[in-house]
Amino acid sequence: MSKFAQVGDFCPNKACTDYGKQQGEHQQNIIRFGKTKAGRQRFRCKTCGDTFTETKGTIFYRRRTSEDEIIETLAFVAEGSRISSLTRVKGYKEDTILAWIRDAAEHVEAVEEVLLAKYQIERGQLDALWAYVRNKGEKKLP
Ligand SMILES: [Zn+2]
Repeated sequence: MSKFAQVGDFCPNKACTDYGKQQGEHQQNIIRFGKTKAGRQRFRCKTCGDTFTETKGTIFYRRRTSEDEIIETLAFVAEGSRISSLTRVKGYKEDTILAWIRDAAEHVEAVEEVLLAKYQIERGQLDALWAYVRNKGEKKLP
């Protein structure tokens, strides 16, 4: 299955002694803890007492746009679309897209997994995407 930061699989509280530990037979500190008003699943870590909702711990935590939409935009970048044309097509600001790319760069494995599985992105395109990330001052892909 996907290693894509499944919320509820680990405690996202960095101060917690069980921070980041995947749930399993011997690791069961996360319990379901009702739902938010918006209907999102809430979880609670029994170790530190923190509660969190299903969007916390995903790669794009606190981004207003849905993860699917962000991933799709990254797929376009990986396919060689220029950021400037994506801002026109998708209606996002260039800074917003660049912020997503920077977020993605911190979760390379998870993002690659989704891009390779869902968008038929090729290895070389991903390399181009990460090269772009490394040269984030530049405006175009090689
Ligand atoms: Zn915890």
